[in-house]
Amino acid sequence: MKLVFFGAPGAGKGTIAKIVYDKNKIVQISTGDLFRNAIKNQTELGKKVSAILERGDLVPDELTIEIVKERIKEKDCNKGYILDGFPRTMIQAESWEKIDPIDRAVYFDISDEVVKRRLGGRRICPKCGAIFNIYTNKPKNEGICDNDGESLIIRKDDQEEAIENRLFIYHEQTKPLISYYKKLDKLVTIDSSVDADTSYQQIIKALKL
Ligand code: ADP
Repeated sequence: MKLVFFGAPGAGKGTIAKIVYDKNKIVQISTGDLFRNAIKNQTELGKKVSAILERGDLVPDELTIEIVKERIKEKDCNKGYILDGFPRTMIQAESWEKIDPIDRAVYFDISDEVVKRRLGGRRICPKCGAIFNIYTNKPKNEGICDNDGESLIIRKDDQEEAIENRLFIYHEQTKPLISYYKKLDKLVTIDSSVDADTSYQQIIKALKL
């Protein structure tokens, strides 16, 4: 099954995609993670996108589409994938329908207020990528990853100014995808202001996973 997860930053796409992978073995492709890894490994791509990510701006469409196109050629994608954080502009969405049409697009519905709280409280593990939240999903020991004991960090783009910028861009550029996928009859909407398990249950019900 080929899925798209889209919605505001902090809506829980990454968290739920990881659960779907654990339980249903559909591989998650997070463009945000692809870019962050490239930055960490100081590749050519990493050098190109580093400042863009810090500001919370979007990476140019052409470059982003190319990265995803390359990624789905890998073996682990032959039974499908979850695109997490891609597409997030109309150009990306329309291009992708020509490249490899998706089955369903899951829209994670959430208010800006909840998003701000979530992103402000988000802490991530720089080693394994696990995501925690100081309000809603605390690690067992404060500031420490449950999986590997690494110290948790705050992403640069989770600073207040970058959060405002990401939300602005989301409303301008990504929200039009709702009516786009609706017209294609591929839209599934879930309420993602609830906890991760409840969001997951909504998805398996809607997609009959
Ligand atoms: P979030 O969904 O919380 O904003 P992501 O990890 O999905 O975070 O993305 C982090 C950053 O990576 C984005 O702010 C943007 O700079 C870049 N990025 C990720 N996906 C895309 C995309 N589809 N198009 C353009 N830029 C992207």
